Amino acid sequence: MSDIQKQLASVKKRISEAAQACGRKPDEITLLAVSKTRSATTIAEAVAESQQHFGENYLQEALDKIAILQNPTLIWHFIGPIQSNKTRAIAQHFHWVHTIDRLKIAERLSNHRGANSSSDSPPLNVCIQVNIDNEQSKSGVGSDEVLSLALTISNLPHLRLRGLMAIPQALADGANHEAFERMNQLFHAIKARGDFSHWDTLSMGMSADLECAIQHGATIVRVGTDIFGQRDYSTQFE
Ligand SMILES: *Cc1c(COP(=O)(O)O)cnc(C)c1O
Repeated sequence: MSDIQKQLASVKKRISEAAQACGRKPDEITLLAVSKTRSATTIAEAVAESQQHFGENYLQEALDKIAILQNPTLIWHFIGPIQSNKTRAIAQHFHWVHTIDRLKIAERLSNHRGANSSSDSPPLNVCIQVNIDNEQSKSGVGSDEVLSLALTISNLPHLRLRGLMAIPQALADGANHEAFERMNQLFHAIKARGDFSHWDTLSMGMSADLECAIQHGATIVRVGTDIFGQRDYSTQFE
């Protein structure tokens, strides 16, 4: 087996064990393989192992790989910060965006999705990014701003609001249970209102803390390093 085969199998095993440990079904959790800085060849190795969901942070790098791979069965998730001048290409080439943190970006994505697509093209799936630990260095809206942004986004015709995403602070002494649980509470409080018909996604947990995220309700875990190895940022675009 190649390294990627082995590592992918091991991450999938971690996901099912974490799910079972808290009484969840492993198939409630989607593995998003974070492929930033990885070549199209590397991604193809994971595709050969039936990996379908890929996450990218840098637009130009992602567009190049999407064009090389030309595989309509793959599902591309944009998980990086979004500048206004990138919204057209993101709306055109991605299936999901996890990092909505302001209305203007959501409006632009909806407009471009509507303008570019033929009438049978589905809405763009989006999550609101929450800055759950109120860190200066991180994007995302505060917990108290999520509901009003969600209500406005849900009126945009070419977006489908799916839920919330967060990158909690990494703690030196272990996984950030408290932040993941706050996300879980926020996610369920909004779900309970019943305003949003497709509210089913809690995107959180990475290589180091996916078990903890699953325990606190994650439905998508975003894993790079533990599938593909350490990243080499010298190969990065942009
Ligand atoms: C890079 C990245 C990941 C993956 O992190 P690993 O620690 O390599 O698993 C997950 N989410 C986001 C938003 C990222 O930018």
